[in-house]
Amino acid sequence: MLRGMIQHILILGAGTAGLLAALTLKMKLPHLKVEVLRSPDIGVIGVGEGTNITFPVHMFEYLGVSKERFYSLVDPTWKLGIRFLWGSRPDFFYPFATEFSGRFPEVTRANATYLGEKDRWIGPISALMAHDKAFPRNANGRPEMHDYTAFHLENRRLVGGLEVLCREAGVEVTDGTLSRAERGSEGIAALNLTDSRRVKADLYVDASGFRSELMGQAMAEPFISFSRSLYCDRAVVGGWKRKPGETILPYTLAETMEAGWAWRIDHEDLINRGYVYSSPFLSDDDARAEFLRKNPRVDPETTRVVKFVSGRRARAWVGNCVCIGNAGGFVEPLEATAIQVICQQSATLTKGLAECQCQPSDAMRSLYNRFVSKDWDDIRDFLSIHYRFNTRLDNPFWRACRSDVDLGGALEMTEFWKAHGPSAIPNGLLIWAGSSFGLEGYFSLLKGQDVPVSKPYQPTAAEKTAWRRRLDGYGSMARNACSAEEAIAAFRVMA
Ligand SMILES: Cc1cc2nc3c(=O)[nH]c(=O)nc-3n(C[C@H](O)[C@H](O)[C@H](O)COP(=O)(O)OP(=O)(O)OC[C@H]3O[C@@H](n4cnc5c(N)ncnc54)[C@H](O)[C@@H]3O)c2cc1C
Repeated sequence: MLRGMIQHILILGAGTAGLLAALTLKMKLPHLKVEVLRSPDIGVIGVGEGTNITFPVHMFEYLGVSKERFYSLVDPTWKLGIRFLWGSRPDFFYPFATEFSGRFPEVTRANATYLGEKDRWIGPISALMAHDKAFPRNANGRPEMHDYTAFHLENRRLVGGLEVLCREAGVEVTDGTLSRAERGSEGIAALNLTDSRRVKADLYVDASGFRSELMGQAMAEPFISFSRSLYCDRAVVGGWKRKPGETILPYTLAETMEAGWAWRIDHEDLINRGYVYSSPFLSDDDARAEFLRKNPRVDPETTRVVKFVSGRRARAWVGNCVCIGNAGGFVEPLEATAIQVICQQSATLTKGLAECQCQPSDAMRSLYNRFVSKDWDDIRDFLSIHYRFNTRLDNPFWRACRSDVDLGGALEMTEFWKAHGPSAIPNGLLIWAGSSFGLEGYFSLLKGQDVPVSKPYQPTAAEKTAWRRRLDGYGSMARNACSAEEAIAAFRVMA
């Protein structure tokens, strides 16, 4: 074996991050020995249920996992985007499609230019969302499946399904709990387990969640806080059983609350809610009381508070240690980005290892670190505009957000918007070309929150007529479309 060649990868932690990383590495680099250490004593976090489009693209297109197999293991529901109860409009939608930044051929500017104050949708996917529908109905009366959808997944069911897929791919999943990591010249020398075993590998992946056992504790890699942009640091979570016949919403709801916001995620049998809040502005007891007032169907006995810190490790790959998932960074789930980052990091690590024939250099590690840092910082910047421009409530928390939230790398983009509105400048000039949200994300949030434009474009009469005809057409399609319940039934028959 060549010195420095990686043949054996040991992943600490069998949550979403550890298993997704293992599956990706083993499926793409099958010659490697990939081992996951699963603790029988320490559980998984048990939250993390919304994805964005990166997840299905990673699973089905990049890894080639069969959709039918995945659906049968995990029972996901569909998520077409996010419905925000945010800003001055009653609501607005951020669809997983090119709608705000797209341009209909009959008009001259990006579609976001033409969205009126009372318009609830701007294209076919947001029209479906506005009608609580998941798929258009085809000529046979059945759902016309489309790919503009991510998933809602129950965390424990996802973890169980990923473990099955990992074992089928040849990943070794073994029980063990870390007691102490030994440091060595390369980074980590060995892991000592509570059952007295001492295990070694060529590359260690820290997927131990918030404990960050290897990168945070053993390697002491500094943590870069996002607290200047993101003030929330806790969530109270709970849910209730869905009644038969109750609509399954095909989107995540994000609702403004007194000191943060609340999600609603619909599964087939459960509806989950969580209130993400800022503890300097609201006590746990008051957050729980507000949460229960808004959600009287939640059983108070089932609620729990989860604490978190927003930020990332300075470097994600140091020596022979890589961190992934909550062990490497965390931001609140306002755009459901944690699983997205896990997919992007797993794929980038895998591609990097393939390129360097599993003999990584400092240059490879440095490039990887640059990518991961930019990815996290891009997410922080995008989330900051949700807080800086939300005018819905006037209280100490939201006033502080509107005056003090640091927009970071989003500042230039928002200044441009205020001057010129939704100009179809090429993606990559004002925002990072690798941004997961792109112009679509920025336009959705800036238009949805009605961030003022100093000299807005005035559409011509012909444009106004064409616009109305478009929206009316999408509205008719959506009124006649299929609900998530109908689609689940049809999908099961097809499978
Ligand atoms: C309130 C909240 C809501 C969230 N919502 C979303 C969402 O909607 N979408 C989204 O993408 N993400 C969301 N997340 C993030 C979510 O946590 C991640 O998506 C993901 O589930 C975390 O996976 P993980 O594997 O990093 O952590 P964990 O699930 O915590 O897994 C860590 C693993 O490491 C193991 N471990 C720890 N210490 C040891 C040890 N000493 N020895 C051996 N094993 C050990 C544990 O047993 C576990 O298996 C949310 C997070 C929070 C807090």
